[in-house]
Amino acid sequence: MSPRLVPSIRFRLTAWYTGVLCLMLIIYATATFLTVRHEFLEQLDDDLYEDFETAEGRLVRTPQGDFAWAADRHHDPDNEEHRGTDVWAASGEQIYRSAASSVIPPPPLTAASTEPRYDSIVVNGERWRTLTRTATVGGVAVVMRVARSEDPLRTQLSEILTVLVVGLPVVAIFAGLGGYVLARRALSPIDHLASEARRITADRLHERLSVPNPRDEIGRLAAVINDTFARLEASFEQLRRFTADASHELRTPLAVIRGIGEVGLGETRSPGEYKEAIGSMLEEVDRLTTLVDTLLRLSHGDAGTVRFSREPVDLGQLARDVVSSLTILAEERNQRITFNDADRAIATVDRLVLREAITNLLDNAIKYSPAGSVIDILLRADGDRAILEVADRGPGIAAAHRHRIFDRFFRLDEARSRSDGGTGLGLAIAKWAVEVHGGQISVDGNPSGGSVFRITLPLTAQADDAKQHSHSTHASGGRS
Ligand code: ADP
Repeated sequence: MSPRLVPSIRFRLTAWYTGVLCLMLIIYATATFLTVRHEFLEQLDDDLYEDFETAEGRLVRTPQGDFAWAADRHHDPDNEEHRGTDVWAASGEQIYRSAASSVIPPPPLTAASTEPRYDSIVVNGERWRTLTRTATVGGVAVVMRVARSEDPLRTQLSEILTVLVVGLPVVAIFAGLGGYVLARRALSPIDHLASEARRITADRLHERLSVPNPRDEIGRLAAVINDTFARLEASFEQLRRFTADASHELRTPLAVIRGIGEVGLGETRSPGEYKEAIGSMLEEVDRLTTLVDTLLRLSHGDAGTVRFSREPVDLGQLARDVVSSLTILAEERNQRITFNDADRAIATVDRLVLREAITNLLDNAIKYSPAGSVIDILLRADGDRAILEVADRGPGIAAAHRHRIFDRFFRLDEARSRSDGGTGLGLAIAKWAVEVHGGQISVDGNPSGGSVFRITLPLTAQADDAKQHSHSTHASGGRS
């Protein structure tokens, strides 16, 4: 069905409601009619039985041996249009016949017994109900039949049926109209929400839908849409900040290159000076290249197009590798790195990607903590998680900045980070690298001053997990 032909929810609700109601009404009307009919027919049989008993009580035998009706002002079979009484002698001779029942053929007299026998007979299009039974009048056995026409009853039944059949569509029409009005009222807040939501465009993302009653269904829907708008706004804001920051980061080295070029061209310089200028330019180009490479990797990470080669990696070994490759930097600053792997920890990760995360943390610790300080690395297992901590004695990170420290281009000290060659992306890369492996990264204050960066990763179950791992402490750059 093309979208244009799909009926509205309002219409579908009304159609369903009316359809179900009609079905229920039909079932209800049919059941009612059948019950009433059954009751009427039972009542007819009860009436016949009473007729029989009355007739039996009134039929008497005269001293002459004839049969006669005892006087009864309440009952005169001959005057009844729709009921009659017939009496036969056992021999088959008819003793009495009422006017109304004269059209009804006699019953098989030989089959008559003391058990009442009910029959339905159609004569000239008229349906009769009869009760035939033997009776004893003045010591003589007779066969007596009482009859009642079913016509009055059928007329009543057909009137009831007419009311039901005519009433049903009328009820259905009113129910349908009521249902439509109800559905319209119930759905109009959704139309209202839709038109409000349409108003909120990319440049008006700070606006929100009105939530008249946050506890009802529409209120909850509006709240969910508002949450989505809030997340969208946050993403837009993040994207905007990122673009602005990235442009800013790219402009700085470009401006420097241009500056060096302009100064170099301003006057005639010696070959040594030109060489120096070109060297400075190349340094800036290197910085630009690193920045662009890192940005590209992050955007690949965002797009989910990075291919990982995951394998079980001994985190202790990996951290030790990182320590030994950065030892030279620590030695330059006369810092000491201690490494304590309390537990053996194996995680299924991409070795190079995780290595970069640990490298960035350790590189920052070396960069931002004072010369001659100690940097502690601790690896331990906690349940099914491995925890790797890098603790330094640097300036630390104020609690207010901790939630933003992993954002791209976020720096506490712009000038220092830049002069140290930082791009402001190291922690963002580390966060991405840890999170793609199902881990978390966080930062806390170090009780002995400085900060503690903590990586948590899911451990890989190993057959030889139980194997006790020896406590080892690795010291490097130890000129303290
Ligand atoms: P950068 O390239 O500037 O080091 P990072 O993303 O690695 O970028 O770090 C972001 C900012 O966080 C840094 O500029 C610095 O201000 C702060 N920072 C990171 N690590 C530490 C640390 N160990 N101690 C204090 N400040 C830190």
